[in-house]
Amino acid sequence: VPAGSGEFALIERHFRRLGAQRRDVSLGVGDDAALLAPPAGMQLVAALDTLVEGVHFPRSAAAASIGHRALAVNLSDLAAMGAQPAWAMLALTMPSADDAWLAEFARGFEALACAHDVALVGGDTTRGPLTVSVQVMGFVPVGAALLRSGGKPGELLCVTGTPGDAAGGLALEDARARAGDPASEYLQQRFRYPAPRCQAGVRLRGIASACIDISDGLAGDAGKLAAASGCGVRIAVEELPLSPALLATFGEDRARQLALEGGDDYELLFSIAPGRLGDAQRALSPSGIECHRIGELCESAGVHLVHGGVVTQFSAQGYDHFATG
Ligand SMILES: [Mg+2]
Repeated sequence: VPAGSGEFALIERHFRRLGAQRRDVSLGVGDDAALLAPPAGMQLVAALDTLVEGVHFPRSAAAASIGHRALAVNLSDLAAMGAQPAWAMLALTMPSADDAWLAEFARGFEALACAHDVALVGGDTTRGPLTVSVQVMGFVPVGAALLRSGGKPGELLCVTGTPGDAAGGLALEDARARAGDPASEYLQQRFRYPAPRCQAGVRLRGIASACIDISDGLAGDAGKLAAASGCGVRIAVEELPLSPALLATFGEDRARQLALEGGDDYELLFSIAPGRLGDAQRALSPSGIECHRIGELCESAGVHLVHGGVVTQFSAQGYDHFATG
């Protein structure tokens, strides 16, 4: 972060010491660049994501939620690679410096960074429409990263958590949900403060054959994993693990649609050899994260939704909604 004057110096004050204090940061925020010491025998894993106001988060979003989500979406990409997160860099563009907004943004970022032992090691601030770019870096033992391309036909498709909750929360945000309803509040929290599955990703090394995080919707992201693996995927719609809050708020049909098509879940979607479901569940259980089998990889390219014995093709351009069963 360059030494600025006036209001941008104020911005930089909020980010001088943010997140975990790590011994592998030889020099963090304050010089022209950071000096970092990656551990021997590890590959550096890097990801970058940009959030734009009005595109990736509502204009009404709380500053703490924006700070949290900007880091969370990136940590989720590291989780999908099986990487242990370590460092982050932040580029913040904003129309003007608002001290209270910045303090809240930093608080949201800081809480998640500390929870995952991530240090903020540098960044930049500029003036313009509100845009947040975060780069994260982490480590994985050489050759141990989880890739999208490792799946094979006949393997099981599994998902962590309960997909659809974040999309349900966003729909409620748009609909101005009734305050005080616990199910609505749970779903909105899932959109505002997604939990990246970093521990799950690390624990799935050596078990998952392929992995992706769900950012754009389960069905579409399953299609990306399958395409990268050179095969197709069948999803058993009745097997989707749905949260009680999503079911209670939206009903079964809409809940399934949100789980398949809604984005922003940041759960992990992965393939495993048949017979390894127990291994995956045992590996994840110390992290308190559940995983469920929801289908399998198949020879036939594309995304095939199986519901009530009927197979429907899913396409990102929209598809015929499955009949109610
Ligand atoms: Mg991703």
